[in-house]
This record gives sequence, structure tokens and C-alpha cells, in this order.
Amino acid sequence: MRDGLSIGPNSSLFEISSFRNKDADYGELLVFGIEELKHTIEVTSTTVECPVKGCNEFVERQRGSFKTENRFRCPKHRIVISPSTFEYPNELDNLLWKDTEDLELLHRIMKKKRESRMARDNSEDALSWNVFRFLEKNSLVEGFLDSITRTSPKSSDVIYWSYNQGEGSDWSLLNRARREFGERISRGSEPDIIITTDNALFIIEAKLTAGNTTVPSNPSYSKKYETGGNNWFSRVFESEYRTVAIAEKKYELMRFWLLGTWMAEQMDVDFYLINLVLTERELDIESIFKKHIKDNQQRHLLRITWENVYEYILKSGRYRNREEMARYFKNKTPGYSANGRLLKAFSIHYGKSFH
Ligand SMILES: [Zn+2]
Repeated sequence: MRDGLSIGPNSSLFEISSFRNKDADYGELLVFGIEELKHTIEVTSTTVECPVKGCNEFVERQRGSFKTENRFRCPKHRIVISPSTFEYPNELDNLLWKDTEDLELLHRIMKKKRESRMARDNSEDALSWNVFRFLEKNSLVEGFLDSITRTSPKSSDVIYWSYNQGEGSDWSLLNRARREFGERISRGSEPDIIITTDNALFIIEAKLTAGNTTVPSNPSYSKKYETGGNNWFSRVFESEYRTVAIAEKKYELMRFWLLGTWMAEQMDVDFYLINLVLTERELDIESIFKKHIKDNQQRHLLRITWENVYEYILKSGRYRNREEMARYFKNKTPGYSANGRLLKAFSIHYGKSFH
């Protein structure tokens, strides 16, 4: 075990938890999914059953925002349980890729990252890391982007949560954009994934359980969103700020479209804002958002699905860890429904083990 390098606020990334090794039933398993979890759990007004198959433990029921406290923790599996989801003891338990290079990169990212719920089973951040780090490590990023945009990129750099690997810090151009539009750097817009290629800039906003509905915390204060970049807003939006950010509640997408198109202009490349969602969610996001933006041959809004990414990975060839990646997609769950039934994350074939 390594020492001293801490990732999240309360846990040490490098302390790879060993509790699974004690559980002979699950052998080499890294992440709990549909195959390992009960298809229904019993939830009473005061208790919740541990979701892991074969476990008889019940914990106190928690309500409201998720709380990581020991009274909600299964003593056998050490996961913290709520009626709808659970949290691993360590962020690493929720991540597939953790060789030395991955851990060093994660450590550098997490020093900058504002909020981390990566240990939570339904974390969009953990999902994004597991999928995009797979593409990056196998040099599949260009092929994947080409499959959805036909831009034939020759090179690519992946920026996870603003961290530019080449610069070794927050991406400098993103910080310039944040300042240009009146954001404080420390609280500025933070796309999940940014990819730069030789001919385009991609901002990818990944969604699993959350949606695109967001509003500013202070509706009467629009920072410099309308005036920054020599009134850049009016060049890339058809609608007014208040219409997009407040009436339509697309505040987050508004910021990514504004900052992204501006950054692409500085780089002299095309821009793609990609809303990465589940197949059955956000079906009309393109038509809703496109009413308000000026898209053209250089600026695009695209809705793509995690299932599209899965299909690309399946067709991509026999890459290292492809089986593990495919199993993760098939086994992934967003948690339990209000009536205690396990949900499946993706609309893909699950095999005979899922009933
Ligand atoms: Zn348990």
C-alpha cells in the first residue's frame, strides 16, 4: 500500500479496500452490479436491507440528502446504504481502471476537483471515468468521436473535470473563458469531459440519474454571460439569457454552449456540445435547446447515449479490458426505485442472469 496520498475529503484513494477479498463469493469482483445485487430490497419506515445478495444485514434508514455515517453502514460489506443507492468505503471501489498511471492522474485531478461523489454507486463521475479512461487508454477516442461526428480527428487530448494533462493544472483556456464571462475560477463552469482534437473542441456533459434542468442560484445576477467576449452571447444564442437560463431552466447547457463556442473561436476549430444521456432520457433535448442557439457548420449540439458508446466499444475490436468494460455496461445499475426494485442503467442485452 502507498502512503500519504489522499484523494477525496474523507478517504484515501490509495488505500485500496480489501473487504471484498474476504468475501469468497465475489472473488475478483470490483464493482457491484445487477449480478451481485438483490433485485428487490426491503425498505421499512425505519430500516433498509443491505442490497448485496446473500446479506442479511439491515441498517437504519436514512432520509434526505445522502449521509455517510456508520449507522447506515452494512457491517459485512462496509457499504453505506440508503433506500435508493449505496456508497463504497473508497472511491477506488467504484472505478475500473487503477493502475499506477491511472492513480497518479486521478490524484492530480482530485487535488483540483471541487466535488467528488465517486464512491457513490450512481456517480456520473465514476461512470465517466470508467468509460472515457477506457477509450483514452486504448487510443479509441478519435475513432469514437469520428463515429458520432465524422470529423476524422488525428489526435486528441482528454480533459477530465477541467484538468489538462499536458498543462498539469486547470486548462488555461477554460480559465480565460471563465474570467471572460465573469465566473470566479474556483467556482466556474466545470464540464465533465472536454476533448480537444486537431480540428475540434468537444464538451461532453454526462448524465446518469440527473437531468439537464438547472437554474442559476441567483437569477437576478447574470455575471458577464450576456456581455463577455464583446457580447458573444448574442452571436451564439437566438434567445435572451433569461429565457434560456431561467424560463427554460437550461443554465448549465447555456454556460457550456457560451464558453465552448467562445473557446473554439479562440482555437479556430469547430465546436461540439455533447449531451451524453441514457437512451430513454432527455429525448427532446436537441429540439428544445436548438430553438435558443445559433448552431451552424462550425457549432453543433448533439445528444448521444451511453448505449451508443457501448455499441462503439463492442465493434471496436479486441482491445485490452474490453470484456471488463462490456461487463460493466451490462451490469451497471443506477440504484433502486421508490418501491425497492433494482433498476438497470442501460438499454442493452443483459444476459440470462437478469430477471
Ligand atoms: Zn451487506
